[in-house]
Amino acid sequence: VDWTGVPHVVLIPWFGAGHTIPFLEIARRLAAEGIVITLVTTDRHVVEVRSLVGSMDLTSQGLPLRLLGLRDNMAHLSHYEWMEKEREDPEAQLNVVKLLQELIVDVGSPDSMKLRNVQPAAPPVCVLHDLFVPWAQLAAENLKIEKHMFYSSSASAMSCALQTRRLYQEGRIPITREMRNMVFTDIPGLPPIPALDLFSSFMDPVMYKWMSRHYFACQNADVVLINTYYDLEKPVLDALRNEVIAAPDAQIKFIYDIGPLLPESYVRRDRDDDILQQGSEETDPCILWLNTRPPSSVIYVSFGSMQTNSPPQLLEMALGLEASGSSFLWLVRPPDSPGMTAALGGPCSITEFLPSGFEDHVKERGMCYSGWAQQMRILKHPAIGGFFSHCGWNSTLEAVCAGVPILGWPFKAEQHLNCRLVFHVTTKPLVFCGHANLLLMCFCIKNCRIGLCIL
Ligand code: UDP
Repeated sequence: VDWTGVPHVVLIPWFGAGHTIPFLEIARRLAAEGIVITLVTTDRHVVEVRSLVGSMDLTSQGLPLRLLGLRDNMAHLSHYEWMEKEREDPEAQLNVVKLLQELIVDVGSPDSMKLRNVQPAAPPVCVLHDLFVPWAQLAAENLKIEKHMFYSSSASAMSCALQTRRLYQEGRIPITREMRNMVFTDIPGLPPIPALDLFSSFMDPVMYKWMSRHYFACQNADVVLINTYYDLEKPVLDALRNEVIAAPDAQIKFIYDIGPLLPESYVRRDRDDDILQQGSEETDPCILWLNTRPPSSVIYVSFGSMQTNSPPQLLEMALGLEASGSSFLWLVRPPDSPGMTAALGGPCSITEFLPSGFEDHVKERGMCYSGWAQQMRILKHPAIGGFFSHCGWNSTLEAVCAGVPILGWPFKAEQHLNCRLVFHVTTKPLVFCGHANLLLMCFCIKNCRIGLCIL
């Protein structure tokens, strides 16, 4: 197939499954329309992204999609190290911008000598970058192509992000200890939001320095795509379109809600369930175990791809799950492990972090799993009755779309805001509890459609 006459888009996700998975879903959709997609990440993360591409079954679909790694002096860094480097040394970015620019020119040049193993394509029409990759805008500006930004979280969080510059100028962020009781009543489209439910970076001066650059930069995108849908966040999307980007000085021309972006291949696989039941082998250990449980009987416990729990938290959770008497599927990550990277590498031993004999005591009704799970398939499984979640935006959307009640334990980033949004769009009561043990004991899957908990 000749790709040179076909539109071509360069996609630059940020590290982390919560950012990369929806990007891959965009890549899959665009490529299915015949658009050539070049996914760019750093050399270090090519392996991770390739694993996700594999787990989402993208390679077997014969799509015009290729993955390239940026090779620079920051490319070997993990994403935490990268964030640190960006904070300490913004100049380091200029090198990345230059490399990205060269790469964009190369991938769009039919006779590029540098990319010998890559099929030639037309020059890209635009760069679609993650909120956390604002330096991609500089490369696009220098090359005079459009810069579109994808925000993998909610429109509510985007609305806060777009107010960052104003709130900073008004001296209302970063939020100091004395300001923690403030309520923000002027975030477009949102109900009054307590300071503590805004981005956790507003409370942390070091993180604030890093994040605010990204929030400021999102105002410079030509187009913003958000992983949400109108029925879920109508007032905020209306406010963003009618007030925020309608302002005379606004640079953003369009805001599109393109969600929910769910990992489609997991969903597709479920549609094929009949085929699976007719003899083809199911191999996923979590699904095999769920197949043995009664409908709506299992609570799924998972805190996304990056969050890990401290040893005391793991202990409390284990005791709580045991005392609850409920059936559970718990994705356990060892404390301080680099979440996704570790899980993608396969299951590891977690026994040493759990109370002695725990797995034996609960083996009749509980499963602990430390590998990478097919979360969307799990949430759609009839045995699942509830989801104890950190309220990462993807997990929230996936649960909403699978119709699974959420019990929220937000940790950081915009998770408190997501948790609050879940509460606002549902009619069921708030479960408030300060202790994981008690929380799980009071959680009754069958009678509670939505429970929400802020610890
Ligand atoms: N996920 C998965 N398997 C796992 C852990 C996570 O498929 O074992 C997926 C999950 O379905 C979601 C993403 O990883 O799509 C996590 O994103 P989210 O925004 O919920 O949380 P984050 O990891 O960004 O904190």
